[in-house]
Amino acid sequence: MDTVFERVAVIGAGTMGAGIAQICAMAGSRVLMQDVEQRFVDRGMDRVRAFLAKGIDKGKVTESARDSALQLLEPILDLTRAGREVDLVIEAIPEDLQLKKELFARIATACPDRTVLASNTSSLTLEEVFADTPGPERCCGMHFFNPPPLMPLLEVVRPARAAEEVLDRVMAYARQLRKEPILVKDSPGFATSRLGVTLGLEGIRMLEAGVATAEDIDKAMVLGYRHPMGPLRLGDLVGLDVRLAIADYLRVKLDSPVFDAPPLLRKMVEQGHLGKKTGQGFYTWDA
Ligand code: NAD
Repeated sequence: MDTVFERVAVIGAGTMGAGIAQICAMAGSRVLMQDVEQRFVDRGMDRVRAFLAKGIDKGKVTESARDSALQLLEPILDLTRAGREVDLVIEAIPEDLQLKKELFARIATACPDRTVLASNTSSLTLEEVFADTPGPERCCGMHFFNPPPLMPLLEVVRPARAAEEVLDRVMAYARQLRKEPILVKDSPGFATSRLGVTLGLEGIRMLEAGVATAEDIDKAMVLGYRHPMGPLRLGDLVGLDVRLAIADYLRVKLDSPVFDAPPLLRKMVEQGHLGKKTGQGFYTWDA
């Protein structure tokens, strides 16, 4: 199968990186999945295998598709090799501006000028992420959603200095990954996180004001507006610390009180009630 990008490196083998590596391999690209320690790449590979096994159980993935995807996927630790050998780098390391800037500055020195560099950041502007990266015309955002193999959207983010030809290739690759791409101007929170966080924060303010219970606020959106999940439950899944960090970032960057974090959210984060990952958020979660 001809793919827009024959060889891809995914940097970071966590929740998002493993899923992104899986779908790139399923689209026929050779994929290097890189992380900083062996146990993290092992965990990433376990995640991919488990996801593919579930796909087979549900009749959505064939055994031969699984085998060819796994053959195309190579876990590695050497970042320089990842840069040297690929046509596209997709970064999926933690949402920390300094970490991402340093990573791209390092990888850009290892890879040829034509290598396209993409970040999976969910809120940071690409202008900031690529501030120190040589060759800004080949840089863009590829914002996947969790879990990447299942979520149909890919938000492609266009930094002011990106080349049209690069964005065309990324949009074409998105379709090969069987995603529905949207092209969004580089701005804090893009289209998805900005709107999603707005709804999440307002839901928390309504809970604080006693408008309704968490269950009923969520039910309002699920049954009244056909959202697959209410904003408070979704906040618990994303992690309330992640929600708060994005809200604080958007408050400063967009200079809008819409993103003022409600005191209840700040208090829950201080108390370590971060949602599903700690067992307690707006809901109580079983281990
Ligand atoms: P995660 O913590 O699950 O995984 C991050 C991985 O990066 C870890 O395995 C870690 O070891 C690795 N890592 C850290 N520093 C590294 C480095 N310098 N080089 C290589 N690997 C390194 O995080 P995640 O949830 O997968 O999020 C990754 C990115 O995706 C973030 O920018 C996040 O905002 C974005 N994102 C997350 C979601 C989500 O729902 N989790 C959705 C969309 C976008």
